[in-house]
Amino acid sequence: MYMVSLDEEACTGCNSCADGCPAGILTFDGEKASIKGDPCDCMGCEACTTVCPSGAITVMEL
Ligand code: SF4
Ligand code: SF4
Repeated sequence: MYMVSLDEEACTGCNSCADGCPAGILTFDGEKASIKGDPCDCMGCEACTTVCPSGAITVMEL
């Protein structure tokens, strides 16, 4: 089981992460990314952490 967290202060709004999330729990509102729904729905694929240039996303294995 995995959980994702997102530091919205660190997010630079590049919009690289949201579309690539296979769990559909990352969203982008035009300025910042955020988590919608249950952060524990994260599948742990690390696609978001790989593309994020600011280190704003953390994936933890629970
Ligand atoms: S690790 Fe994968 S499933 Fe989890 S939030 Fe990032 S892109 Fe989505
Ligand atoms: S990839 Fe990182 S910096 Fe870019 S929108 Fe997502 S969280 Fe923000």
